[in-house]
Amino acid sequence: MRKPFIAGNWKENTDSQSSVALAKAVAAGSAELARERVSVAMFPPFVYLQAVARAVSSFAVAVGAQDVYFEPKGAFTGEISPAMLKDVGCTYVLCGHSERRHVIKESDELVGKKVAAAIGGGLLPILCVGELLDERDAGKTEQVVERHLRTGLAGLSAEKMSAVTIAYEPVWAIGTGRTATPQQAQEVHQFIRGWLAKAYGRNLAQEIRVLYGGSVKPDNAKELMAQEDVDGLLVGGASLKADDFVSIIRAAV
Ligand code: PEP
Repeated sequence: MRKPFIAGNWKENTDSQSSVALAKAVAAGSAELARERVSVAMFPPFVYLQAVARAVSSFAVAVGAQDVYFEPKGAFTGEISPAMLKDVGCTYVLCGHSERRHVIKESDELVGKKVAAAIGGGLLPILCVGELLDERDAGKTEQVVERHLRTGLAGLSAEKMSAVTIAYEPVWAIGTGRTATPQQAQEVHQFIRGWLAKAYGRNLAQEIRVLYGGSVKPDNAKELMAQEDVDGLLVGGASLKADDFVSIIRAAV
C-alpha cells in the first residue's frame, strides 16, 4: 500500500513571517492525518527553510527544498548542496521542476546529477517530469516523460531508487488553472509505473509514489486521488493558503 503524499511547492513566495505562519497553520491543521495516514511536506524558499523546519519540528510534517546543486562544496556561487539542506532540516528536495527546466533552462543531464547527489546526501528527491502543451498536442507526452525518467534516474540502483518519488506535472497545467482530467493523469501515471516496472521490477514499481501536479485545488483533489496510480499531489498556488492546502490533505485519505 502506497501512503498518500501531499507536497506544497511555495515557489518564490512568502517572507520570513508569513512562511513560518503558513507552515504552523498547515502543521496544526493536518497534525492528526500526518501522523499516520498521509505524508505531508512543504517546500519553502531556501532562505526560510531553517525557520520553517524549526517551527514544525514537533509535528509529523516534513520540509523540503525546491532545488539543490550536485557538487558537495566549492566555488559554485549561489548554489546549495545536499548536506546544507540536511543541515537546516530538509528531508525532501524537488529536482527538475518544470520552471527550472523551462525558465532556468536546466538540462535533463543536470537534473539527473541532482537526483543522484540528493540521494547520496541522504535526501529524498522528488523528480518532476512532464510535457509542454505543444508536445502533448504532437502526441509526444510519453516520449517526453520517458526521456525525463531515463535521464533523471540515470544510473540509479534499485536500492537508491526506493528513495525517489516521481511527480507528473504536465507543464500546460501548472499555474494555469487548467488541470489534467483524472483520466489524463491516470494514463500518464500508469505509463510511468509501467516504465518503472521495466527498469526496476514490478515490486519496486508498486512501492514508488507517483504524484500529480498542475492546478490542484480543494475541489479537484479528491477525483485525482481516486485514480489507481495517483498516489499524491504536488500543489503550487493552493499550498499558499493553509485552509486550501489542509483541505487537499484531507481529500487524500
Ligand atoms: C507546481 O508548482 O508544481 C504546481 C503544480 O503549481 P500549481 O499547483 O500552481 O499549478
